[in-house]
Amino acid sequence: MPTVTEEIAYRTEIVFTKTALSISIDEPSPQIVKHREALRSFGAQNFQASTCIDEKWFNDNIPCRGTCPAGTNARGYVMAIAEGRYQEAYLLARQNNPFVATCGKVCGAPCETACQRGKVDEPVSIRALKDFAVLQDKLSHEEVYSWIRKRMGKVTLGRDSDFSRRGKSSLNDVPRVAVVGAGPAGLTAAHDLALMGYSVCAYESGSNPGGMPEKSLPRYRLDREAVKKDVDTILSLDRIDLAVGKKCGKDFTIDQLREEFDAVLIAVGLQKGRMLPIPGIEQEGVLSGLDFLMDVGTGHGLPMGKKAVIIGGGCVEVHGETLCKVVQGGKAIVMGGGCVATDVARALIRINKCKEVHLVCLEAAKGCRPDNPKEEMPAWVSDVVESIEEGIIFSTSWGPKRIIGENGKVKGLEVIKVKSVYDAQGRFNPIYIPGSERIIEASNILLSIGQAPDMSFMDGSSGFELDQRKMLKMDPLTLSTSKLGVFACGDILRPGLIINAVASGQLAAQSIHQYFGGTGTLGLAQPGPMESIPVPRRFERFLPRLKKERKLPALIPTKKRVKGWEAQECTYSESSAEGQAERCLNCNVSPVILPNANCILCGGCVDVCPPKCISMAYLQKADLDSTVDSKVDGYGPWAGLVHDEEKCIHCGLCSLRCPVDAISMIRFEEMLDVIGRKRC
Ligand SMILES: Cc1cc2nc3c(=O)[nH]c(=O)nc-3n(C[C@H](O)[C@H](O)[C@H](O)COP(=O)(O)OP(=O)(O)OC[C@H]3O[C@@H](n4cnc5c(N)ncnc54)[C@H](O)[C@@H]3O)c2cc1C
Ligand code: SF4
Ligand code: SF4
Ligand code: SF4
Repeated sequence: MPTVTEEIAYRTEIVFTKTALSISIDEPSPQIVKHREALRSFGAQNFQASTCIDEKWFNDNIPCRGTCPAGTNARGYVMAIAEGRYQEAYLLARQNNPFVATCGKVCGAPCETACQRGKVDEPVSIRALKDFAVLQDKLSHEEVYSWIRKRMGKVTLGRDSDFSRRGKSSLNDVPRVAVVGAGPAGLTAAHDLALMGYSVCAYESGSNPGGMPEKSLPRYRLDREAVKKDVDTILSLDRIDLAVGKKCGKDFTIDQLREEFDAVLIAVGLQKGRMLPIPGIEQEGVLSGLDFLMDVGTGHGLPMGKKAVIIGGGCVEVHGETLCKVVQGGKAIVMGGGCVATDVARALIRINKCKEVHLVCLEAAKGCRPDNPKEEMPAWVSDVVESIEEGIIFSTSWGPKRIIGENGKVKGLEVIKVKSVYDAQGRFNPIYIPGSERIIEASNILLSIGQAPDMSFMDGSSGFELDQRKMLKMDPLTLSTSKLGVFACGDILRPGLIINAVASGQLAAQSIHQYFGGTGTLGLAQPGPMESIPVPRRFERFLPRLKKERKLPALIPTKKRVKGWEAQECTYSESSAEGQAERCLNCNVSPVILPNANCILCGGCVDVCPPKCISMAYLQKADLDSTVDSKVDGYGPWAGLVHDEEKCIHCGLCSLRCPVDAISMIRFEEMLDVIGRKRC
């Protein structure tokens, strides 16, 4: 919670009056008048000096933007859609996220969790609106990059470090960077480095770039056209080369790259599924869920007919035979409750030979432990609901005890009821209920309990230091490894969402730029300069918006869904997209009491404010900063209005209620030279 003094520093709409709340409106005492004038003149001076209203603060506190790891201007593109400016919406969503089309389909959308509209009813469907904007895009790659280049910060290439040591100091030469792994993290870094002017070569062990979104995300959730659109736009940049089918640690080493390039970036992700040390794990029919998904994702598994036993391993090679093992017998159990687990379960249903799919997880079902949500399964609610619709049988609060087999082949899984998953200190420490064991029959057991790195990329190279977990030792600020000029980013550092990998790639590119001695940043995720636009009567416009309910694009019917890999989510029509975008509260519109306002401290705004974010506060003299103090003599306590911007839903009711028009609704809008703008 901010202190009162911080409130004062940031929220300049606070009015101070040396008075109690019960002031006489008609006849304020001469002392009250004097103090009001003094404070007003203080406010006016500061307002003219542009310090009174802290525009940066308003911009930084738009929750959808603030919570996006890559700083995407979600408000900007949502509002652009609401106003029918579709091309601009795409550009705003794309400007700092090269994986915009992919994220439009499957982003975990932390922006929606934080969305202010969620405090009224349900969040704006920001992710689905991004998907809509992407589908409206009719711009060429050149047009996209010409728009982006106009908004880039000024960057001066660095030629220090190894580069000058190697004597390539001619201005015509630019430092070259090798990127190992062409997933979201590696390609985002390549994109940003190329935009800055560096020369990049990305090496990918698989046959296609795109990382996990290309290799393992089920197609019913992520149409590969989306990944292709993103990758094609990135690779259209002049300075990026891509070599596919080249595996680091096998076809070449980091040390060799280090000889040839001025810096190396490792972005190899987490390519292995974790396995459990339980009895029977070695039997035929047990495999990692990630291997299975990669097999299905690459399309190699479906037509194959050979048998194979796959235990652990995984890497990025295609396990063509996996599928035959999975479907044999028609029954499978998926263990683990993260999203990968539901992906595996639903993919199993779709291969159309698995008649019964169980999902067993330690955690309780969603919503069953409101007292301790950590004890609930982490999978997204929508995934769980859709899985149940598709016939997946959930066994929540059950843990695996042993895998039962016959002649070395899986026959079933013995499970035991879970009492709790975490101990009082919040540590993972499952407690089981003895005597509750039961057996679920199955021909295959797939483990989806997390991912692990395949460290073979280090093979043939020396000088890497590892931490206690046997992971690369890193400087968290610069993303540099213990080897000079070698950096790392993405899931290999910390597993997360695609948008986390994008943000990590951005950081790595900036860090490599600084390593070369370059100056400036691309600045594409930075808030632009703002202008304030008075919006006189906010509430009238707000009310109709409030009546609109959140509606996600429809899903195709369950029966059709489970028959194949067709994209399950439809897209918004223009009218429904605009309607959904209009649900946005426009968190860049804020109530402000301007210096010439005549607040009488009646408390009307306090009474009507729906989320109770305006309060009357008594302040001690010590809470006021020295400038105020020097202008106002007298004694405390002082009464004033304190507005908590973080709770405000920007409805404008306070402005409507104020009997003396003291509160103005001000829209802080980024000044963008955008195409097709029709300002309303
Ligand atoms: C099944 C599944 C479902 C997911 N669902 C979602 C979702 O719905 N939403 C979401 O936001 N995130 C999701 N994620 C997470 C997301 O895919 C990752 O966070 C993201 O892809 C990480 O990006 P990355 O570039 O770090 O790694 P990756 O995407 O793994 O890319 C790494 C690349 O490096 C290549 N590589 C590996 N080793 C080598 C080597 N030695 N030499 C050369 N190349 C190499 C790999 O082939 C790969 O292309 C999911 C992940 C999985 C596994
Ligand atoms: S209401 Fe609109 S501006 Fe506010 S957080 Fe949600 S999407 Fe962003
Ligand atoms: S009444 Fe005013 S302060 Fe309260 S939520 Fe609405 S705009 Fe914000
Ligand atoms: S309603 Fe207007 S006059 Fe009354 S306390 Fe609020 S801002 Fe001041």
